[in-house]
Amino acid sequence: MNNNYKYVRMFSNCIPVLGKDKSVIYDLQRKQMFNIPNDLYTFIQLFEEHTISEIFELCGEDNKEVVEEYFQFLKAKELTFLINEDEIKLFPKLSMKWASPAKISNAIIEISERTYPLFEKIIKYLTALGCEYLYIKIRIPESYIIIKDIVEKLTTSSIFSIAFEAKFNANERMVDYEQLVVKYKRIETIFLLSKEPLKTTSSKILITPFKKFVNKKECFFTVNISLFTESQKYNTYFNKKIFINKEGMLLNAPEAEEVFGNITDTTFEDLVKIIDSEKFQKYWRINKDVITECKNCELRYMCVDNRVPQKSKEGNYFFTSKCELKM
Ligand code: SF4
Repeated sequence: MNNNYKYVRMFSNCIPVLGKDKSVIYDLQRKQMFNIPNDLYTFIQLFEEHTISEIFELCGEDNKEVVEEYFQFLKAKELTFLINEDEIKLFPKLSMKWASPAKISNAIIEISERTYPLFEKIIKYLTALGCEYLYIKIRIPESYIIIKDIVEKLTTSSIFSIAFEAKFNANERMVDYEQLVVKYKRIETIFLLSKEPLKTTSSKILITPFKKFVNKKECFFTVNISLFTESQKYNTYFNKKIFINKEGMLLNAPEAEEVFGNITDTTFEDLVKIIDSEKFQKYWRINKDVITECKNCELRYMCVDNRVPQKSKEGNYFFTSKCELKM
């Protein structure tokens, strides 16, 4: 059958994003990415208005082989399909609308002697705010016992996923941690900080030296539809986040400076007022498209970089440090 008069379409969940030096196709359903040259990105834009034969004609005889290679690559990676002209309107683009009913979707909590006794109050508040993701930093020596107690307390909560960051202590056994992640499916990851090299059979336990921990680049990138659509308008690190530090202080994130009170004497009504305030949401809408360093980066819709954006006199957003995440 002659396909020359057909149109090529990318699957709606496969979205090319242009970068300065290279581009990326985000496959939002299979949660993976494909690096591509910028020429291929430009080539894909031709699909919008031209049939296959028109594309060959536009690119010229000299580029015939490259055009064939590009079509072949896209087909082999299962990123494209062919349609007739009268079928075009049957394949609309993926909606970029993002909405979340939660006032707070993710929280970072430092568990210390001060905040541990308040844990039940904190979880009650977070649950009422719609929070589903927790990142808990254990700052008390008995890491294993505390983690076990916390996951048991969360058994009937709406918290969907928890990651822990804790020191592995000499008197603890790895097998206990391994049994914990098997028993409690809500545990997404346990980052165990250790000076000594350790071994584990669990893919949910990541052993890492103290210093290298912050450099785990893979932790900053995720390809999925929720993050992609959220990042079109919001800063995916600061948006709908709250941080409760070891003193109980309330902040938007560990990297943010402003303190909005202390959980010890904050009522639920006070907390809602804090979260609804413009000051608390200062960074939420500063997405990567408006940050000088990021707006031409092909990773901008998968990156959860945690640096605090600054505003210049001219109204542009920038970072005071250089990006160390870009691969
Ligand atoms: S922080 Fe770095 S990797 Fe992330 S979008 Fe900006 S430049 Fe790209």
